[in-house]
Amino acid sequence: MNAAVLTMPEANTLDAEVRRVFEKQFDSAIRLRRSTADERIAKIKKLKAAVLAHAGAIQQAMYQDFKKPPEEVDLTEILPVAAEAGDNIRKLRKWMRPTSVWPTLLTGGLKGYVQYEPRGRCLIIAPWNYPVNLCFVPLISAIAAGNVAIIKPSEMTPHTTAVIVKIVKETFAEDEVAIFEGDAAVSTSLLALPFDHIFFTGSPAVGKIVMAAAAKHLTSVTLELGGKSPTIIDETADLDLAARNILWGKFTNDGQTCIAPDYIYVHESVKAAFLDKASAVLKASYGNTDAEQAASPCLSHVVNQRHTQRVAGLLEDAKSRGAKVVAGGGVNLADQWVAPTLLTDIPKDARIMSEEIFGPLLPVLGYSSLQKVIDDINAQPKPLALYVWSKDESNVRKVMQETSSGGACINHTVVHYLHGNLPFGGVNNSGIGNAHGIYGFKAFSHERAVIRTRFMMAKMFFPPYSGFMKKVVALLMKLV
Ligand code: NAD
Repeated sequence: MNAAVLTMPEANTLDAEVRRVFEKQFDSAIRLRRSTADERIAKIKKLKAAVLAHAGAIQQAMYQDFKKPPEEVDLTEILPVAAEAGDNIRKLRKWMRPTSVWPTLLTGGLKGYVQYEPRGRCLIIAPWNYPVNLCFVPLISAIAAGNVAIIKPSEMTPHTTAVIVKIVKETFAEDEVAIFEGDAAVSTSLLALPFDHIFFTGSPAVGKIVMAAAAKHLTSVTLELGGKSPTIIDETADLDLAARNILWGKFTNDGQTCIAPDYIYVHESVKAAFLDKASAVLKASYGNTDAEQAASPCLSHVVNQRHTQRVAGLLEDAKSRGAKVVAGGGVNLADQWVAPTLLTDIPKDARIMSEEIFGPLLPVLGYSSLQKVIDDINAQPKPLALYVWSKDESNVRKVMQETSSGGACINHTVVHYLHGNLPFGGVNNSGIGNAHGIYGFKAFSHERAVIRTRFMMAKMFFPPYSGFMKKVVALLMKLV
């Protein structure tokens, strides 16, 4: 269903259909509270098998949607879903076990433990840029934690969404996992319902809309958002490795990655050398000319005309304010193509320095004071990722201690996403809460504090209050 063309009766039908499925999931959510690890693992195995069985169809669909190379589909869509499933299959029994805690001075005689209970009915809203990954990785965590879920994939990659819908419908009964295709109108209809948890991945702007809607029902949220992730290359960095690695992190998916290096600060003493190396890497990876690069089997295109125009607009704006194109710079709107581009001498007021680029443009800024770089980063909203390239431990320590970001890599780019034992998430403007592994399991669980009574010391505090009780409280005041 498409919001733009929804008439009133259609809107009512949409709301009614969304409510029907939501209500149908109520009994299942209660039933799944009793589900065992084996039952949840069986569902995750089924999902993993379905995704692997449809790998070819996913590759084809993603090529149709934005010419994503099949190798990148395997690396960034299928593999992360399979890895997340594998991790959950291996570890879920352990994660589900109640966690005992030590008694405290005030609670002698009581056994305390944390029980991970399913949140219940969960809504997963996904973006377009890694559509399979960002629908199914949260879904695996939702299932692992014993929930039912409704998924709302993005409308911007229709071929891939069709495969996602097929996988969900073939794998799950609607009362456990349902899926609604469509744009903001469908999200809006879903967001009106009192879900127990919302897991949203997308832009900070829409994240605010989601959080405001969740607030109406005091629904908990995980918000996986975006922003401008800076990279710092100091004067001691291995420039060859940095150039190869950063360009890989940037131009995979054509720069349409939430944790892609958005822009680079490089020390003035090595800036020219870095730009030379980066230009050479760009040509070696994608071709020597604009035409070769546009035909490269290793580069996706921009997702649609609107975004091609948006990215081209950022480039034009930067150039008109004096930015210099070091490599790339070509645009072909009809082909949804913007060449992988290195820019330098960018004035601070260029739009490219305040808006998330989310495309194949890489601004490279020189610096001479690391403190000034840190001050600049701290003056911006907290980024989703931060990358620092250095062999100088004191510089690394300074950057890591004096900045904040969702995640970070030292002498690497983007791979923290793939580390299943690390939390993946943002901070403030780049997100709230975490995904992946046990962190994803906890995002979809309520950590219920439980006390089991062995003997009841609290009896001495019952009224009528005695002198003895007052002495015990006074003693406790000294001991705590
Ligand atoms: P988006 O915020 O435009 O859309 C995300 C989802 O929200 C889509 O399903 C869309 O249909 C829905 N939506 C759009 N407008 C809505 C509205 N008004 N009300 C309710 N729902 C609405 O994001 P996008 O363009 O699909 O993806 C790009 C953004 O996502 C970037 O900012 C990127 O950094 C971020 N992102 C973050 C992560 C992460 O893990 N932190 C991963 C991928 C992308």
